[in-house]
Amino acid sequence: TDTLHIVGGGMAGSEAAWQAASAGIDVVIHEMRPKTGTFAHKTGDLAEMVCSNSFRSDDDEQNAVGLLHWEMRAAGSLIMEMADTHRLPAGGALAVDREAFSQGVTERLMRHPRIRREDTEITSLPADGHWIFATGPLTSDALGQAIRAETGAEALAFFDAIAPIVHFDSIDLSKAWFQSRYDKGETEEERTAYLNCPMDRDQYEAFIDALLTAEKTAFHEGETAGYFDGCLPIEVMAERGRETLRHGPMKPVGLTNPHAPDIKAHAIVQLRRDNALGTLYNIVGFQTKMKYGAQADVFRMIPGLENARFARLGGIHRNTFLNSPTLLDAELRLKSRPHIRFAGQVTGVEGYVESSAMGLLAGRLAAAAIKGHSLPPVPATTATGALVTHITGGAEAKTFQPMNVNFGLFPPVEGLKGGRRGRRDRYKGYTDRAKADWTGWLGAAG
Ligand code: FAD
Repeated sequence: TDTLHIVGGGMAGSEAAWQAASAGIDVVIHEMRPKTGTFAHKTGDLAEMVCSNSFRSDDDEQNAVGLLHWEMRAAGSLIMEMADTHRLPAGGALAVDREAFSQGVTERLMRHPRIRREDTEITSLPADGHWIFATGPLTSDALGQAIRAETGAEALAFFDAIAPIVHFDSIDLSKAWFQSRYDKGETEEERTAYLNCPMDRDQYEAFIDALLTAEKTAFHEGETAGYFDGCLPIEVMAERGRETLRHGPMKPVGLTNPHAPDIKAHAIVQLRRDNALGTLYNIVGFQTKMKYGAQADVFRMIPGLENARFARLGGIHRNTFLNSPTLLDAELRLKSRPHIRFAGQVTGVEGYVESSAMGLLAGRLAAAAIKGHSLPPVPATTATGALVTHITGGAEAKTFQPMNVNFGLFPPVEGLKGGRRGRRDRYKGYTDRAKADWTGWLGAAG
């Protein structure tokens, strides 16, 4: 039949349902709550916010998540409409009254004549029909196992271990240098795969002290139960001994510093290119539970990163997500079963807004497919397009970790100054271009 089945009525599933129903498609939302719960959800409402009540910055000229708000509003997003309706004063951020918000989403969806809800847990991947799986970071165990059986165990993670990601143009190349260990780099791409930051003994000892004393966050209750399989936070490695990191991720071997070829570094921090554009680098092996404020201070102690701007800070969380660069096509379809799309955080985006945006896109794509036409590709110059391009192709598959939207994912705007000085103009350039291209896409997509 032509019914669209959506598994998971969270942020992404709710938005996908709204978009598809608005396009005239009948929708069934399969939501396991309140019968089966998760450690983070508290209610049976749709689109429950599990932690903070913030949609982050609402600045659509200087901030990539604010731009995503703008794009979603332009596309008639229910999540954004309800966030705006239940907005709380919070300066430049979009904070919402969480209960009124999710009750508002639930009511609007349940009042829609084309949308029905079934309180069921789906535990397998269906053989036919039209499906969107938007089961989120806390996808139920049974379904997680079924997905793993389909994709292979390597391709579905139950935890993220996010190392901080730095904007390339904020790294000081008078201190850092490009080199792969033992000089394996031959092509330009291999040559720029790794950046290295050297430390002398004093810098290393001060860095270890900072790691040991920095404020940390704890795992949520129930978060690690039966899952956490030991991607150790960097500060835990440091606790095991002051030399542990020097023999692990910071080992100073196989590398020569062209800025000081005669001095042997005591330790070396490596950064690995994180996207095909080469605008983002992650700090290798630096997953951490340090608090965000502490991370920025500690990581700016690394020579070459004194002025680093972080596209995202590190973390370790319970988070079920696919290796989307290998598993999904550009329309969020599972390559091995194209009648199934994925949306939301399970695709490897991170955050309420990003997850909702992937729901919006999946809902529109599925509705178009059911009606027998296809949509033009979303321009990679838009926030929505930059995200979907990153997760389904731009990101390095081998080291794929969940991603927030940020300007590092956008193709550069021609003719604008790089670096810190030109930042305001550059961001305005990105957002102006994105708005024009998103408006064009919405028009072309009908
Ligand atoms: P969800 O909103 O989680 O929705 C998935 C839905 O699928 C749930 O309702 C679930 O019950 C249902 N489901 C799961 N398995 C099945 C099944 N087999 N059958 C039927 N239904 C199923 N993001 C932020 O932006 N800010 C934060 O502060 C924040 N804090 C977080 C704290 C925790 C502890 C966690 C786990 C995540 C946090 N996130 C936060 C990320 C947040 O979960 C996502 O941004 C967002 O909720 C993801 O939307 P989603 O629709 O993909 O998943």
